[in-house]
Order: sequence, then C-alpha cells, then structure tokens
Amino acid sequence: ASFDNLNLHSALLKSLQELNYTSPTPIQEQAIPLLLAGHDVAGQAETGSGKTAAFGLPLLQSINPELQQVQALVIVPTRELAVQVRQELKQYARYIPNLKISAFYGGHSFRMEQDSLAHPPQVLVGTPGRLTDHLSRRSLDLNRIKQIVLDEADKLLEMGFEEELDKLMRALPRDRQTVLFSATMADDVKELIENSLTDPKFVQA
Ligand code: AMP
Repeated sequence: ASFDNLNLHSALLKSLQELNYTSPTPIQEQAIPLLLAGHDVAGQAETGSGKTAAFGLPLLQSINPELQQVQALVIVPTRELAVQVRQELKQYARYIPNLKISAFYGGHSFRMEQDSLAHPPQVLVGTPGRLTDHLSRRSLDLNRIKQIVLDEADKLLEMGFEEELDKLMRALPRDRQTVLFSATMADDVKELIENSLTDPKFVQA
C-alpha cells in the first residue's frame, strides 16, 4: 500500500516523503479514508501503531489555514503526550503555510498560554485540566471547533478526567467530527464513545 491512494494533499505527501514514511500503517490505511469522508471514528490502537498520523493527517487536511481560529482540538492525558503530538503534527504540517499548532498543559504559565491566544492556533493540543481552566476563565473560544480528537481515551479516564471531558464536550459545537483512540475498549471507553461520538466507524490496529 502507498500513501498516494489516500487522497492526501501534496503538502502532506511531501512531508511524509521527507520523513521516509513509505507506506501507511494498518490503522492509517483504515482510519484516513473514513476521516476524510467526514465520519466519526473510534480506533483501538496502541502507541507505535501510527495512530497520531492516522488522526493527524486528515485533521491537518481539513484545517483552513487562512482563518485564525481554533478549528481542531486534540485532548491528551499528559503534558508529555501534548508536547509530542504537537511536535509530530508540526512535522506533518511543515509545508502548510500559516498553520499554527499549540500545546496547552498544566505545570507551566497559564498567562503565557492566554496571551498566545491573541493569535489563535488552528490546532490546539492540550490536557483536560488546563483546557477546562481556559474554558472557565473564558480565554478560549471553542465555538469554531470542527474536529475533536480524544487520544489515549482509556488513559484519560484512568487518570480521572471524566468531569473535565464532560465539561469540554458540552462546550463544543454539536456539529463536529469526533475521533477517539484507545488502547483498550473497556466499558468506560465504550460509554465515552456512546456519549461523545455520532454513528462512529470502528477501526482496529
Ligand atoms: P504513534 O503510534 O503515533 O505514536 O507513532 C509511532 C511512531 O511511528 C512515530 O515515531 C511515527 O513517527 C512513526 N510512524 C507513524 N506512521 C508511520 C508510517 N506510515 N511509516 C513510518 N513511520 C511511521
């Protein structure tokens, strides 16, 4: 298999080529067409499966770089993952001009994040606690968000972020695309899928 048949923009294909990604991983091959077609997707995939590119490439392709608005939100359980996912998305987005990707997470200056929203990123990666802080202090406008990713959903729940997720999901527009990835499909993850995704397609690494 090759990335050429997945209908990805040339800017993304160019960065994949530079990164020496010659062929899509199984989860990418399944998830990318479903996401580009606009479906909600629930994926069972572990770290190392290529899940970040599986949700990241279609996400980047759907962003309008001309609009300075937060259009996609990636919710991750830890600050390490927030930094890592942002870095990976930046690599894929290297040839998309005017695209800003930020990471918001606890343990560093709230004020700095708040100030950075004067020029909002189109893609925001963040941890649930810090994102709800921005929500309660009204520094973050979630109304223009069209895509949500819940990454490592089992870990998000395991770490006790249910309430924060609830708050965030309720503040997000109903008309949106939602993607969830999880290493397991335990009952609490299934419940989150039921509550947050609409008519999801299931994929498995
Ligand atoms: P992830 O499962 O998203 O944490 O990705 C695991 C690692 O695989 C990351 O270092 C990616 O850069 C790399 N990767 C993702 N997709 C591909 C691909 N199609 N070909 C080669 N490497 C990849």
